[in-house]
Amino acid sequence: MKVNEKGSQIREGKAKILFETLPHSSFIIQSFKDDATAFNAKKKGQIRNKGVINNAMSTLIFKHLEQNGVPTHFVEKLSDRDMLVHRVQIVPVEVVVRNRATGSITTRLGIQRGTVFEPPLVEYFYKSDALGDPLIGEGHILYFQWASESELREIFRLSLATNRLLKELFNRIEIDLIDFKLEFGRTEGRLIVADEFSPDVSRLWSKKTGESLDKDRFRQDLGRVEESYEEVFQRLERFFSERV
Ligand code: 5GP
Repeated sequence: MKVNEKGSQIREGKAKILFETLPHSSFIIQSFKDDATAFNAKKKGQIRNKGVINNAMSTLIFKHLEQNGVPTHFVEKLSDRDMLVHRVQIVPVEVVVRNRATGSITTRLGIQRGTVFEPPLVEYFYKSDALGDPLIGEGHILYFQWASESELREIFRLSLATNRLLKELFNRIEIDLIDFKLEFGRTEGRLIVADEFSPDVSRLWSKKTGESLDKDRFRQDLGRVEESYEEVFQRLERFFSERV
């Protein structure tokens, strides 16, 4: 039985609202908003239709990951903004996979923008708005028991598997996958990819022009934010529809 009746609100985040589903407690609904924040919510705004695009894009990406052996919390797209997902216990660690240097690593470590990371670089951040998501090492994750050693190995493996699949996918639509952030959740004793995959949580550069097609357009006031999100989605949608 598919469950899609919205229950009470669980929590409102910066980009999504989580709702209970009725009558089952093993699913929740995540509802994508147009709200956009940057620099630990110091910059706030809206990106018109972002919620609709991010829901649709995350749906395409999660389906692609599932079909290629990476488990995710995705169950079903319910409406323009709503996605039914498995309820998970979120691991309080944000995993960032980097194929090229940009963003925080350039200022934090003085690495030149555009530097290629081969093999890809995996970094961990402690998921805490109050602390501004600080960089952490594996030692912290194990010491504070945010994940066990075997879970950490699985998180690392799934992050790189996701990178391989998505780098290849974006290559096919003339986009360089520069970096992205993943979150993981526990359910029934296993780890799955949770949250979302969209231009909000990744850096996507046009192969042809080198320009950003992601949230950096909002962060840096580059203009054409909505158009860039839409452009990425259109290319993905075209790719998948031509493949069927
Ligand atoms: P950076 O560490 O360079 O700021 O971010 C690396 C990548 O992870 C980028 O694709 C960025 O969008 C994503 N990322 C990391 N942390 C967050 C976060 O708290 N919120 C969002 N939306 N994206 C994040």
